[in-house]
Amino acid sequence: MTARPMVEIRGVHKGFGTLEVLHGIDLTVAEGEVTAVLGPSGSGKSTLLRCVNHLERADRGYVSVDGELIGYRRGRGVLHELKEKHILRQRGAIGFVFQSFNLFPHLTVLENITEAPRFALRRPAAEAEADARALLARVGLADRADAYPRQLSGGQQQRVAIARALALRPKVLLFDEPTSALDPELVGEVLDVIRDLAAGGTTMIIVTHEIGFAREVADTVVFMSDGRIVETGPPSQVFDAPSHERTRAFLAKVL
Ligand code: ADP
Ligand code: MG
Repeated sequence: MTARPMVEIRGVHKGFGTLEVLHGIDLTVAEGEVTAVLGPSGSGKSTLLRCVNHLERADRGYVSVDGELIGYRRGRGVLHELKEKHILRQRGAIGFVFQSFNLFPHLTVLENITEAPRFALRRPAAEAEADARALLARVGLADRADAYPRQLSGGQQQRVAIARALALRPKVLLFDEPTSALDPELVGEVLDVIRDLAAGGTTMIIVTHEIGFAREVADTVVFMSDGRIVETGPPSQVFDAPSHERTRAFLAKVL
């Protein structure tokens, strides 16, 4: 019942210049659980994900993953920002899958997946490659190892991006609208892979507008509006009996 917290977001505030984007976000994701984050465009969902892996530095508050503070170390009661090298290592444990795939265009599928394990983690090439082939099989692309990203459909590219994130054996996977850039007929194959990961116990935070998918896969649904978590609960509660007017208004638009 009480699974270990894997991701802890505490009092995270973030602004850009005078624009306050996150007004104190608190969220805990337990090990093996899936949290879906919904909310209107501009509500701060991407900024929140980027704060989790320190792509954005929170102005206040902090994030920890598996008990480890991200981006900082504590010393004499104050936080000191870690060196970039150390932050990059922490980011390896926090897989990030973007809306726009972001594969390296000049590398093959296999090279895309083995790049970070080989050159950041210094794993032997043969080992990284064997691992990558197993991951490609898992996302249904065993036969495309030597293809270049441009030779693949959007759905295939996104599955490679997921395999690439998994190659670092992350403790948590973050997805920022992983199917929003895809043609409708390609959405299913990507959701199938994410569904499979959820069944295998991967801890995930997924920003998505796919309500049906969130209902099926998420343990917890979070609804954000104007930089705040307005509502959180199991899918049945948030979707079928939302307690806030903003959630109701949003659902009425997207359902
Ligand atoms: P969402 O993902 O929910 O659509 P975002 O987190 O992308 O929302 O953006 C929230 C707000 O922050 C928006 O008003 C956006 O324009 C602004 N914003 C995001 N990133 C930056 C940035 N790097 N500089 C300035 N404003 C930003
Ligand atoms: Mg966004």
